[in-house]
Amino acid sequence: MNARRWLAHLALLGLAAPAAAAPLRVVVSILPQRAFVEAVAGPHARVEVLVGPGRNMHTYEPTPKQMAALAEADLVLPIGVPFEHAWLPRLAAANPKLRVVDLLEAAGVERLPMIGRAHAGHETHGEGELDPHVWTDPGLVARLLPPLAAALAEADPAHAADYTAGAERYAGELAALDGELRSLFAGLAGRRFLVFHPSWGYLAAAYGLVQVAIEHEGKEPGARALASIIEQAKAEGIRAVFVQQQSATASASAVAEAIGGRVVALDPLAPDYIPNLRRSAQAIAEALRSEP
Ligand code: ZN
Repeated sequence: MNARRWLAHLALLGLAAPAAAAPLRVVVSILPQRAFVEAVAGPHARVEVLVGPGRNMHTYEPTPKQMAALAEADLVLPIGVPFEHAWLPRLAAANPKLRVVDLLEAAGVERLPMIGRAHAGHETHGEGELDPHVWTDPGLVARLLPPLAAALAEADPAHAADYTAGAERYAGELAALDGELRSLFAGLAGRRFLVFHPSWGYLAAAYGLVQVAIEHEGKEPGARALASIIEQAKAEGIRAVFVQQQSATASASAVAEAIGGRVVALDPLAPDYIPNLRRSAQAIAEALRSEP
């Protein structure tokens, strides 16, 4: 029996070492994170996303099935969205061996205050609330890649070189996107765009725009606040109200109607991160360019 046949025989008996290790089980909170992990890990990871398509990450709770998957994960990657604060400490306490890596902390990312409703020309901030929508800035996402590669390599040292290469490749793609967005928003510095839910604060900060939100601390505005938003938007010639597909609301439509504008749907949680961010940025830039 030659060596190869001997090995095949052993494998059939289940005696040989496994040819390839099973992919890492990685749990992330939101769909854009799956794009990040898949770009860095390629076939070496199987990614489970907690907040599924069309779900609202602000009101989401993990299902019992997801809690079980979490307990068995090789790596859990929170991104600072609200539900994590409630269940991650409990989960980690129940599973002391669970590997939870906070990439934002590892990368030293400072989160922005949540921008509240606009009042006659200035923005107010929600009491101490920090804006969780960090991934809408591709430059910020690029900062998460080295600690992501390191976390994957720690969980699976055999593929460390692949993780480093994947992170470098994806950082290049994000840098290209950042360059595109810089040219797209060139000449629009300081311009204000109106959103229902404030998902785009990091994009705004990165490219010198100002996000104005209709919603305030997760609540629909009252009649007086709505009237003030409409008055201000009219005065500035704003013609578009951006809503999240998950949260299109009557007040967004009311504002759009009152300003003679339109409601434009964007999805900050879309799974195709780079194409989606490009599309979203183009929609915002197009609206700003069509306004006075
Ligand atoms: Zn949100």
